[in-house]
Amino acid sequence: MIKPFKEKLLLSSPTMHGDELKYVHEAFDTNWVVPLGKNVDELEQALASYIGVRDAAAMVSGTSALHCCMKLAGIHQESIVLCSDMTFAATVNPVSYENGTQVFIDSERDTWNMDPEALEKALKKYNGKEYPKAAAVVLVHLYGTPAKMNRIMELCDQYHVPLIEDAAESLGATYMGRQTGSFGKWSAVSFNGNKIITSSGGGMFLSNEEKAAQKVRFWSTQAREPEPWYQHKELGYNYRMSNVVAGIGRGQMLHLDEHIALKKKIYEQYKKGLEGLPVAMNPYDTDNSVPNFWLSCMTINTGESKVRPMDIINRLAEYNAEARPIWKPMHMQPIYEKNDYITAGTDNVGEDIFRRGLCLPSDIKMTIEEQEQVIEIIKSCFQTI
Ligand SMILES: *Cc1c(COP(=O)(O)O)cnc(C)c1O
Repeated sequence: MIKPFKEKLLLSSPTMHGDELKYVHEAFDTNWVVPLGKNVDELEQALASYIGVRDAAAMVSGTSALHCCMKLAGIHQESIVLCSDMTFAATVNPVSYENGTQVFIDSERDTWNMDPEALEKALKKYNGKEYPKAAAVVLVHLYGTPAKMNRIMELCDQYHVPLIEDAAESLGATYMGRQTGSFGKWSAVSFNGNKIITSSGGGMFLSNEEKAAQKVRFWSTQAREPEPWYQHKELGYNYRMSNVVAGIGRGQMLHLDEHIALKKKIYEQYKKGLEGLPVAMNPYDTDNSVPNFWLSCMTINTGESKVRPMDIINRLAEYNAEARPIWKPMHMQPIYEKNDYITAGTDNVGEDIFRRGLCLPSDIKMTIEEQEQVIEIIKSCFQTI
């Protein structure tokens, strides 16, 4: 008999180590309990060098970093932005902050990310003839699995459209040896509480363009012109990270690789434990990519089984374990139902994955034995439903 977990098993929660508090103390000791300061500078440098980009700007959130990417792309009322369809709303909402319009690009089965074939179709459609020319591509690496970047980059180059990379979930994942977050002309990372590392809340803007990072720092600190009085020519925001928060992030950076190794173990234990069931783990391009395995997910071969994602999610909840549906595609969201949506063929791949998929408890504090129990609970669904 499996007993309910005493403490709730979470999808993904913060894991602190002690270094975080050391840097927070440092901020207190030096009275840098303010926006900006040494922790912010150090976190920015650590991120830029880890990802391999020229500059990084620490922000209050990944969403605010993405908003600044939209401003750099010059998005306005007539702009069309080609966006990953199956993702968290924060990937695509910033397009609307600047009054642009999202066109959603379907997922491919190999990585669940933007389908290069569908993207090519969209780039051909939104080319400035019958429809406006696409102003930018916004691409996510879902659940820490890199998209097929070689083909995506080729297409963006060929059609001269800037790439904005949402690496919020994929910090530390690589494609052909290159870090996600380094492909975009402008990129964003998140340190929200459930991400692979956290600062309690925060994000990072990344770019190889020195001017872009300067501009983002300017907008994020109220767009104040260099005058003795408060002089403003542009609309500003209060988007910069605080030095206390950055201390947590700085401490967490020291443990990023360790977190990735633990997440990978979780993925592999699920893969092995679920063998023989009519299910598949979230796939990745095994030849070219190394995911960070932020969340382990699975899809059910619904042709072979009556079990549905909510059956497993509800059963796990009975045992005090958290599982969740896959991100509901944006073209299925009431807020975006009027937007254009482009698939490679006649299939709706994102819809299919959403209907058959779920995210499994992937917290790195989960023990091997606890995960074995989760696997047993999942198996029991297939025996009794
Ligand atoms: C978390 C997340 C974001 C937003 O990051 P915040 O730091 O929470 O603002 C954006 N995109 C994706 C895909 C995310 O998972």
